[in-house]
Amino acid sequence: MSAHHSDYSSHDFGANPLMFYYEVTLACDLACKHCRASAQELPAPGELSTEQAKSLIDQIAAFPRKPSLVFTGGDPLKRPDLCELIRHAVAAGLSMALTPSDTPLATFEAFEQVHQAGIRRLGISLDGVDAATHDAFRGVSGSFDRTMQMLDYARRLHLGVQVNTTITRRNVAQIDALADLLRSQQIAMWSVFFLVPVGRGIEEERIQPEEYETVFERLWHHARHQPYAVKTTEAPHYRRFVLERGGNPLAGPEDSAAPHSHRAPLGVWDGRGIMFVSHIGEIYPAGFLPVCCGRFPQDSVIDAYQKHPVFLALRDPDRFKGRCGICEYRYVCGGSRARAYAVTGDYLEAEPDCVYIPKKGRAVISNMDL
Ligand code: SF4
Repeated sequence: MSAHHSDYSSHDFGANPLMFYYEVTLACDLACKHCRASAQELPAPGELSTEQAKSLIDQIAAFPRKPSLVFTGGDPLKRPDLCELIRHAVAAGLSMALTPSDTPLATFEAFEQVHQAGIRRLGISLDGVDAATHDAFRGVSGSFDRTMQMLDYARRLHLGVQVNTTITRRNVAQIDALADLLRSQQIAMWSVFFLVPVGRGIEEERIQPEEYETVFERLWHHARHQPYAVKTTEAPHYRRFVLERGGNPLAGPEDSAAPHSHRAPLGVWDGRGIMFVSHIGEIYPAGFLPVCCGRFPQDSVIDAYQKHPVFLALRDPDRFKGRCGICEYRYVCGGSRARAYAVTGDYLEAEPDCVYIPKKGRAVISNMDL
């Protein structure tokens, strides 16, 4: 979910996350193949209570600059006190988004209630252009139709929508068809997520590094021609791809009135503009980077973000290893720290799925040739 802070700059990274993801529950009635959380039907033991969740919200609101707060899951609609927490966050001055799962809980009435409580944006997952692809992904038949219905509810309520799509071998050939399907949905943003092999996602085959470049080419085309903005998640090398072609990775469509001032600045990544707290209060640099940096309420999320050595290391691209550490794009791209961790066990390692050879690396190779 992208932020609305157009004036947030790299100077703010050290003190404030731009996006704060709080996994309000692990409970979810779906069993998606690529689920980061490996969600389950019932709430997990140790889930933060209503009072604990409220005090977490208060702490989030106490960052020098208030981040945008995203309630994620599991399925946030499984949490009975959801609207109470939303109202609390709004009263604390936070801008709020929600990522509901496509289950029978996602009714028009439920959307109306969260809207009235103060939600302004929804993140809705669409993982295939048709029921066969999408339902197979999400492990439930009827899921595609329900997702289309959720998009319709959101439109009727004038809720901003970001559609999230996870790219894997199963749907990589559907990029253009997905982009065209979304054209009619009046969405604000298409966020294209590239698989990080954690949680259930480990079962699913991710695309080859060379294929990213082909997908980036199509995304860059759609970013310029569709009425919604396009961004990648856990594939920051899309920024490098666009910059190499003289483009602006933050540019929106040319021919629409869609708001684009909500784009995050370049150089935001896990631990640097992004932070995550799990359903039991574990503090991570991101949901896809499960390196525990403390536990709320014993530990302060503000201290963890500003001072924890893992966060500090993630914010220093000069400490990155391999190609990312010498790459001229490391301050705007940096590679997916989550994928580096999932694949190598070291979050400072090079992005495993980038084919780019940095200029410095080229010099080394040509010296070796001599
Ligand atoms: S080598 Fe690393 S920093 Fe450079 S473009 Fe690739 S992922 Fe980004």
